[in-house]
Amino acid sequence: MDDIRFCSETDRFKFILQIGEKKFRASQIEEWLWKKGVRSFDEMTNLSVSLRQTLQTHFTFKQTRIGNDVQSADKTMKFIFQLHDERQVEGVLIPSGDRVTACISSQVGCPLRCTFCATGTMGFVRNLEACEIFDQFILMNQESIHVFGRPITNIVYMGMGEPLLNYDNVWQSLQWITSPKGQGLSPSRITVSTVGISTGIIQLADDNFKADLALSLHCADERKRLKMMPVTAKHSLSELQKSLSYFYAKTNKRITIEYLLLKDWNDSQEDAQKLFSFCKPFPVKINLIEYNATDSQFEKSPIQNLNRFVDFLQSKNMVVNVRHSRGKDIAAACGQLVRDKQ
Ligand code: SF4
Repeated sequence: MDDIRFCSETDRFKFILQIGEKKFRASQIEEWLWKKGVRSFDEMTNLSVSLRQTLQTHFTFKQTRIGNDVQSADKTMKFIFQLHDERQVEGVLIPSGDRVTACISSQVGCPLRCTFCATGTMGFVRNLEACEIFDQFILMNQESIHVFGRPITNIVYMGMGEPLLNYDNVWQSLQWITSPKGQGLSPSRITVSTVGISTGIIQLADDNFKADLALSLHCADERKRLKMMPVTAKHSLSELQKSLSYFYAKTNKRITIEYLLLKDWNDSQEDAQKLFSFCKPFPVKINLIEYNATDSQFEKSPIQNLNRFVDFLQSKNMVVNVRHSRGKDIAAACGQLVRDKQ
């Protein structure tokens, strides 16, 4: 039996008519699924008991549950989501001022094996279904209200996995989260982050993507980037630059560039110059990120290198922010999400 959320809205509508129910029942079900975010038929209390029983004999809900949660000294919370097949992914809630940002996963593991990333060491297990991505939002939103007294305000697709390698499911989850018939969150509060799948970036532009795009660039030197991020072999920097120019031309959206500063690897003035040249064709905001040691060969960049890097970019009139990672003591910071048992 399939999860009721696996079939399309049209198929659910047809099913309701086939079993002799009125059209408005289908609309009620849609509302329960996407606006109220329920995850069982028993919660659909405005449907008759017999209709709920019929639904139960034809469909299931593949339950995502919170298996565990842990809170950092800085209030960041990390959640382990237990999926219906006992696989696990992680999500993070980051409170700051009026905001609560949820970081959600798109794949179990990741096939891309970036050398600085703990998730990359797991290898790829499977793509998440759209409803499993949606469930992370619903479950963390409940926790956000419970723990921080306010709902999630922002979402970043920056957890486990590469979102653009699971394009259709990520796209569908975005529709349910942003649609007025769903959770109604503004797309301007959502960021999808990619390590640079150029074909996916072009597809986002063609699909009239409304959320923000972040590129985890981390290095603008082809040879060094290839060593850090094997994905560069398939999606070269020049191809990536072209796809971002195309994205900007179609969406008119400024692109966020994520850059992890690593000691004596990508933090020289020459590296800053290459970053500047890469970003010239489109407007960007650069986030320089402090590295969280995983078991890789890299080290955090010292403060003098960071300052030199920032000064150079600012002298070129670039918008630069320095990001200190949150949740380091609970391994919830960027690049630290990993589950051993899959
Ligand atoms: S940084 Fe992102 S794309 Fe690279 S291995 Fe980690 S999860 Fe995958």
